[in-house]
Amino acid sequence: MSRRRIVLTTGSTSGIGAAVAERFAAAGDEVVLHGRSADRAELVASRIRGAAPEAVVRVVLADLADPEECAALIEQAAGPARRIDILVNNAGLNVFTGVTSTTLEDWQHALDVDLRAAWLCSRAAMALMPAGGSIVNVASNHALYTMAGSFPYNVAKAGVVALTQSLAIELGPKGIRANAVLPGWVDTPLAHAYFEGFRDPTAERARVDALHLVGRIARPDEIAAAVEFLASEDAGFVTGTTLLLDGGRSALMEDPRREAG
Ligand code: NAD
Repeated sequence: MSRRRIVLTTGSTSGIGAAVAERFAAAGDEVVLHGRSADRAELVASRIRGAAPEAVVRVVLADLADPEECAALIEQAAGPARRIDILVNNAGLNVFTGVTSTTLEDWQHALDVDLRAAWLCSRAAMALMPAGGSIVNVASNHALYTMAGSFPYNVAKAGVVALTQSLAIELGPKGIRANAVLPGWVDTPLAHAYFEGFRDPTAERARVDALHLVGRIARPDEIAAAVEFLASEDAGFVTGTTLLLDGGRSALMEDPRREAG
């Protein structure tokens, strides 16, 4: 029988990260949940155990804005086996301001959590990752195209794509792959917080749904499916690249003067 893979997903106490952890647990992997709240982690852990009583779930808490906590997270996640087979750098936050309005603190916080933590966690995990291992980074469609008021989030996420390429170069000779998913809108607490900022959150949600060729934003499990694929042996020839998951939004060039024929 092949051994269980050890899969660490950062920021897996909610949203996309929780869906990723649930997916790997359903596949029989040992999953390490990470977040900052023990209560939220326990909720996800009990959901996983409820669906699969034989699941192996561990929890490690760490604030990834702190470099020492990034290193400690990887140490603890490796556990007695001293191994991490799959690392999903998913933890992140939205700092959505502008080039002129962003403060040094905004910039630092966004870059520390959305970019630096992915580098530090990857660097520490590389030493504990066997051949066949894989890193999947959760970036964003903002790494490619952005909108007003999305700075410096977009800078951090573009950095995650560049980090992914450098990881793939250094890890290739060790038989380890690195890739990134670039989600567009996903139905998570992060998105809900955005909609709640509008006087009519339901109308704003409908407007955003309609921006997509599939007529809706993504479910977290749809992003998790792509992460699982990139980490799998089926993606053995895929490294140093990105997978855009935006419901077709970027395929549509808006041109108000032209009507569909
Ligand atoms: P979420 O808020 O539900 O989850 C974010 C996770 O990151 C949480 O577990 C949170 O605890 C963790 N986190 C945040 N700051 C942290 C810190 N300092 N230390 C440790 N953990 C921290 O959000 P989500 O929508 O599931 O986002 C997950 C990832 O997907 C993020 O990187 C986000 O940028 C990216 N993303 C989300 C969307 C979307 O529309 N929801 C779109 C594109 C990309």
